[in-house]
Amino acid sequence: MVAEDSAQILRQQVRAWLQANVPVGWRQAMTNSEQAAFVQLQRQWFGKLSAAGYATPHWPSEWPGGGRSLADQKVIYEEVARADAPRLILFFVALYHAACTLLECGSDAQRQTYLPKILAGEIWCQGFSEPNAGSDLASLKTRAERRGDNYVINGQKTWSTMAQYADRCLLLARTSKAEVPQAGLTYLLVDMHAPGVTVRPIAQITGDDEFAEIFFDDVEVPIEERIGEEGEGWAVAQATLASERGLTLVELSHRMRYALPLIAAQMRDSGREQDAALRRDLGRLIARVDATCALADRYLLKRISGEEAAGDASVVKLYYATTLREFSLLGSRIAGLAGQYDRGFMRGATQETGNWPVDFINSFNWSIAGGSNEIQRNIIAERMLGMPREPRSWQMTAR
Ligand SMILES: Cc1cc2nc3c(=O)[nH]c(=O)nc-3n(C[C@H](O)[C@H](O)[C@H](O)COP(=O)(O)OP(=O)(O)OC[C@H]3O[C@@H](n4cnc5c(N)ncnc54)[C@H](O)[C@@H]3O)c2cc1C
Repeated sequence: MVAEDSAQILRQQVRAWLQANVPVGWRQAMTNSEQAAFVQLQRQWFGKLSAAGYATPHWPSEWPGGGRSLADQKVIYEEVARADAPRLILFFVALYHAACTLLECGSDAQRQTYLPKILAGEIWCQGFSEPNAGSDLASLKTRAERRGDNYVINGQKTWSTMAQYADRCLLLARTSKAEVPQAGLTYLLVDMHAPGVTVRPIAQITGDDEFAEIFFDDVEVPIEERIGEEGEGWAVAQATLASERGLTLVELSHRMRYALPLIAAQMRDSGREQDAALRRDLGRLIARVDATCALADRYLLKRISGEEAAGDASVVKLYYATTLREFSLLGSRIAGLAGQYDRGFMRGATQETGNWPVDFINSFNWSIAGGSNEIQRNIIAERMLGMPREPRSWQMTAR
């Protein structure tokens, strides 16, 4: 059978499966929902998707659901987006950031220990940013001090997505002071239920609290939980960031494409179908969304074929974040003043809700999370285009 036929067969299978299994009315159920209902929906959906083999298309073939060809991965991402299935926001750090880091930089023992736990539904969070270390990540101050067979962690992380639910944390900590700040960092896996870990959720303007502060007070981490060598955490962190900036955006880009009719319908319903300015801007948005999907697909192809180059993931992230902003801004313009009426927030369903002002506020997430738009532009300029670095006074150890 030729590859195209097999991808077509898979498409039909996935589409039929999604039609039968996507929880009906899940968006309404998540509007102003309690945390417990959100966790329940996410767990049930993850259980179903992973049992069907559609939650881990990017994993290698030795793992259930993995070993998919490029064509098959694309089919799954596209169909999940097309069906407007719940986004696996509670599990995406585990399935993407953690799994990609373990696969690329972890030991066999770490992969054998943690990947099955992720498949069984463990929740992970990413502990990189600190109150004074975001863009300038290498200036982070959380300490990991070696004592016998353990590291002892002291410090604070912030903006950690889903940390209040997490079982494990991908932690970047300082093990030594070095002349080059990146050189003294070490990458550790921390049990979030260990003594000395305190998590405090951060309330957001939208009403959600999808991220949290984490405090580490003499938290012991066995040395086997270190990924890579001591002092080499910066290189390991790049694997995590590449997954965050590139891979996770393939499905999300296609979600925007399938949500475009929401905007067109709103124009129709508000009797502004013939409004020339709106028609022009919708046309422009459709072209931008298409370009975003093409960039995301090209990134996937490069990643699978081992041709990913410095800055590729940043291009996808930057383009996605700016298109998403335009998307929800156009929706807000069409919705007009009536659209400002508070219709509540959708927990964990942060985009394409049709509640445009909230979507617009939420779109700022993507221009900051995983490194801000400005930092992505710096990376593209320096690492991809070979332009000179910023003047010394501005030079930071950006992510
Ligand atoms: C929704 C969301 C989820 C997040 N989830 C996580 C998570 O799970 N784990 C985690 O560790 N972190 C997470 N973060 C944190 C995120 O990585 C940081 O917020 C981000 O890196 C920016 O850092 P900062 O907030 O400290 O801003 P700052 O670094 O203080 O930046 C402030 C402003 O200055 C600009 N700026 C800074 N340096 C430069 C420069 N060199 N050149 C040009 N402009 C510059 C920035 O672009 C920004 O506009 C999340 C953030 C958001 C919004």
